[in-house]
Amino acid sequence: MTSLLQTLSCADDYDPESLPVDRARELILDLTGAVSGHERVLVRQALDRVLAEDVISPIDVPAHDNSAMDGWAVRFGDLAASDENAAETRLKNIGTAFAGKAFAARVGAGETVRIMTGAILPQDADCVVIQEVARVEGDVVVIPPGQQREQNTRRAGEDLQAGKPAIAAGKKLRPAEIGIIASLGIGEVTVRRRVRVALFSTGDELCSIGTPLASGQVYDSNRYTLWGMLTRLGCEVIDMGVVKDNPVALEAAFRQAADSSDAIITSGGVSVGEADFIKQLMARLGEVAFWKIAMKPGRPMAFGRIQPDGPERPGAWLFGLPGNPVAVMVTFYQFVRPAILKLAGVDPVPPFPEFPARCTEAMKKSRGRTEFQRGILFQENGEWCVRPTGAQGSGVLRSMAEADCFIVLEHEREKVGAGDTVNVQLMNGLV
Ligand code: AMP
Ligand code: MG
Repeated sequence: MTSLLQTLSCADDYDPESLPVDRARELILDLTGAVSGHERVLVRQALDRVLAEDVISPIDVPAHDNSAMDGWAVRFGDLAASDENAAETRLKNIGTAFAGKAFAARVGAGETVRIMTGAILPQDADCVVIQEVARVEGDVVVIPPGQQREQNTRRAGEDLQAGKPAIAAGKKLRPAEIGIIASLGIGEVTVRRRVRVALFSTGDELCSIGTPLASGQVYDSNRYTLWGMLTRLGCEVIDMGVVKDNPVALEAAFRQAADSSDAIITSGGVSVGEADFIKQLMARLGEVAFWKIAMKPGRPMAFGRIQPDGPERPGAWLFGLPGNPVAVMVTFYQFVRPAILKLAGVDPVPPFPEFPARCTEAMKKSRGRTEFQRGILFQENGEWCVRPTGAQGSGVLRSMAEADCFIVLEHEREKVGAGDTVNVQLMNGLV
């Protein structure tokens, strides 16, 4: 079997010392696949879950030809020519068709039936004239010229057809799909099991909530942002706390994590000064590549697989993220999020859309790396504009909290002038 590291080193343009963001994401997506296992859930519990099997429609939707408007059901052939200058047509009102109650009789020549939205089209009617344009004179209905065949009607099966897939496997179910499932009369669907993600923070300087900060310590925030991002993605999160920068403690944590999860996310410990001892540990525990990604923030990152103790267990993917709080979030969104969607069985994994906006402030930028500045969108003279949140240091988590978008400064770009167009990724939907 080809090893993960061999596969990586055979990939085109693979340079672990300087990997473009898009290439790193592609490599991760090429190597990962959906985890196995699914469950049956009630339709409401299926919201935000990933469909494991196609939903096949048992019925036509709509089930019958019906009216899209309140008006008059007519036979198009009875009407005067459809051009605007033709004469009016006088039809005899023979009754009313209500939604949910079929009109018993057919519409004969020269006749019309008052029809409500959603009511089944009476037999032989093929056109609905909206009530606002018709004139009622006793039991005669006067239809103006200019009507079109089949106007204001909905055909049986025009939305969904019996026997055909209504929703494809791999879809993450949103309110619209939940509604479609209900519209088919289906009460339960098969969804993929949630992805299990174990996470821990590394660093001797980290202090947990509830303990006063000693000199040189910082509170561990990464476990909380990671927990939030993973929970939003629908993962089952196994929080393993803080692990000291100590080979014995780290080895035990990695082994335990690999036994219980599909993916392990760590923060800290992959920067140049720390990577050497982690590298030695990883060489024993699995196959892990140490990348320098051409990006800011978030340059160092580890990606690979950790083998479990027992041979019968599949092991877990590892995403070793940098320690700086903003770098954690940026690398999570750019690399871990798409990978988690892939593990969850989302197919296809949608690319995250970018939109142009006018940047109202100048920004420094070095060529040869992709930068993810944190920005605030606003409208000016009907145009979308963006400005960076204040200090952009990779430790300044406030820059994320104030932002509603990433300003993505692409690999080849140099400095941005005030008024230049930049691409933004909305955090809404991403986060
Ligand atoms: P490292 O990548 O381990 O060298 O850490 C880089 C920076 O991020 C250091 O200033 C760390 O103190 C900080 N850091 C690392 N882990 C965390 C964490 N879990 N929460 C908050 N800050 C962290
Ligand atoms: Mg550290």
